[in-house]
Amino acid sequence: MRALVTGAAGFIGSHLVEHLLDAGHEVVGLDDLSTGTAANLAAVDGRAGWEFVRGSVLDEARVDEVTAGADTVFHLAAAVGAFVVRDRTIEGIRINVHGTDTVLEAARRHSARLLVASSSEIYGKNTKIGLREDDDRIVGSPLMHRWSYSEAKALDESLVSATVEAHGVPAVIARLFNTVGPRQTGLYGMVVPRFVGQALAGDPLTVFGTGEQIRCFCHVLDIVPALVALAGCDEARGRAVNLGTADQISIGSLADRVIARLGSSSTVVRRSYEEVYGRGYEDLQRRVPDCSLARELIGFRPARDLDDVIDAVAADQLGHRPAVA
Ligand code: UDP
Repeated sequence: MRALVTGAAGFIGSHLVEHLLDAGHEVVGLDDLSTGTAANLAAVDGRAGWEFVRGSVLDEARVDEVTAGADTVFHLAAAVGAFVVRDRTIEGIRINVHGTDTVLEAARRHSARLLVASSSEIYGKNTKIGLREDDDRIVGSPLMHRWSYSEAKALDESLVSATVEAHGVPAVIARLFNTVGPRQTGLYGMVVPRFVGQALAGDPLTVFGTGEQIRCFCHVLDIVPALVALAGCDEARGRAVNLGTADQISIGSLADRVIARLGSSSTVVRRSYEEVYGRGYEDLQRRVPDCSLARELIGFRPARDLDDVIDAVAADQLGHRPAVA
């Protein structure tokens, strides 16, 4: 495979690059290094078959150039994270909508297979236990910046789906639920690296809202091979496929679990949503996937649990890779 990975210097992108190189593929990574970092790619520096191109998915000429040589495109580049959505709303919408349109058109022109990373955010406030791919979106006002990421990703999905139908492009949508692991940064809001960092420093863990909100956290090393399998799965063409785990935990319990697992002396403090995200913020009270479609299509079955995640994130933040990833 000659793969293009957009967002290669990001958290998931960098693990995908490593996985593809380990499997003997040639990989070009495109990233504007806005939230991704060169440090994320240090592990693949100098490896045969690897090339990094600094550039934006908004740059049509650059995207065309890097797509021309690829037979498979993994489109992961996006403006992600609750703080990014809050602080860079306009830029985020442009990257997430126009960037995907640009990559999709390039993949169509060059007849490349395409996997587009979408998000469980598209389900919005739907609290159903076991969200399935055809379940309804329940979202708030588009005038609240809080929903702009959900809206942008939903539009991406509509674009991909319509393009597959109109032009037969071999594209698939991966709907990622909370994906966590080494290299994820807490700078943009993600809770697991924030809690682990706070626990390691002995600082209070900051639980936003009541702490009763529920998420399911899946290890990035379970997600990455599934992305590769989905990109190559003909039956998945034109479909959106959930990827995540159904193991639920409340954010309050997550804080306790991180403290216990790391033997930390940290305490837990609560912060109101208004204090953290500004006025009018709505959180998602529960987000739990049903991944039976991914199981049917590619045999998807996550193998790692939350303790594996906490250990790996802590090892990463302490500056050493875990012996067994
Ligand atoms: N959260 C928290 N403390 C933090 C960061 C996040 O309590 O320091 C909460 C956040 O409000 C949300 C949950 O943890 O309810 C998951 O947040 P994240 O941004 O990781 O993922 P998402 O909200 O997109 O599921």
